[in-house]
Amino acid sequence: MHTPFCFHKCHYCDFYSIVDTRDRQEDFVRRLSGELLSLQTLVSHPMDTIFVGGGTPTLLEARLWETLLHRLAPFILPGGRTEFTVEANPETVSPELLEILVAGGVNRLSVGAQSFQPQHLATLERWHDPANVGRAFDLAKATGIANLSLDLIFAIPGQSLDDWLADLDAALALQPAHVSCYALTYEPNTPLTARLAAGQVERADEDLEAEMFLATRQRLGAAGYQAYEISNFAASGFECRHNLAYWRNEDWLTAGPSASGHVAGWRWKNAAHLGRYLASTGLAPLSECAQPAPTTRLAEGLMMGLRLAEGVSAAGVMHDAERLGRADDLERAVNLQRQSGAIIERSGRWSISEDSLLLADSIIGALMHAVDP
Ligand code: SF4
Repeated sequence: MHTPFCFHKCHYCDFYSIVDTRDRQEDFVRRLSGELLSLQTLVSHPMDTIFVGGGTPTLLEARLWETLLHRLAPFILPGGRTEFTVEANPETVSPELLEILVAGGVNRLSVGAQSFQPQHLATLERWHDPANVGRAFDLAKATGIANLSLDLIFAIPGQSLDDWLADLDAALALQPAHVSCYALTYEPNTPLTARLAAGQVERADEDLEAEMFLATRQRLGAAGYQAYEISNFAASGFECRHNLAYWRNEDWLTAGPSASGHVAGWRWKNAAHLGRYLASTGLAPLSECAQPAPTTRLAEGLMMGLRLAEGVSAAGVMHDAERLGRADDLERAVNLQRQSGAIIERSGRWSISEDSLLLADSIIGALMHAVDP
């Protein structure tokens, strides 16, 4: 579920979000409730996971969250069995809001820290006080949410390896159940990319970025976190089930402007336009809807599955490739990668070897090309 409001636009962000003026929150929640009601007529069973992202979901007023959670109740399994995550900005977490979230079934909070160092937050134009990350964690724990995740960004212009290690240590001090660490990307049409083009910031050196990536795995691994996905680390049993569903190419529904869905081979994206969304009724207006070709779906399955430490089922992938007449090409591509040690086979699954993770994009690309040239 996508909530499209933020209190400020971070310079690296290309998600659909608008600076909140508080005047459309109520209409938005009313419209989102209507969309959920329409979904409920199509899907009568509760969800294994729910993820509310954004934007900044915790910017919604507490009373509007109450309305939303009431509408979401039929989608939630009893006994806390639905993994229900809400993304949180450290500035907008309050005891009152947390109590409402917990009462409504939320049992996981994903806090966007990005960095604990003010100068790097300033480069990102990210507006929060790093001290409030710990405050948000304390409040969440006091309200009974133990499943807490932190998002961090590395390879920020001007960030040294020591700065990054200090960020990791600050994160570890909070004892999160889950940590996501992504290298900064320069998306088209963002202010940061414009500043890069204008020479106002300098992209991190490739070797430094690689060092940071490897240091992340080393530092978080030593602290007991499993690198269950290239950029995601979890204490045992705290892997994000919602994101695992994406990487395992499972089905998910969607709600809110610009959110994407995937069911039975169909992919769609709700239009990224709040005005159009508010003016519509029933299901959200779409900007894209397609059923990709079977070879594209197989390639996408490899792209997502090979990001995971568990990798993909060799027999499952070969079965699909055979059906599509791509088995010989795939086998050749996999054998080449296995000979170089880039792909390993363990318990009938193919995965990228630890030593080759820096080359993951090109390894995955070669396998995708073999099934979907
Ligand atoms: S808070 Fe998140 S969604 Fe909002 S502008 Fe910043 S990065 Fe984008």
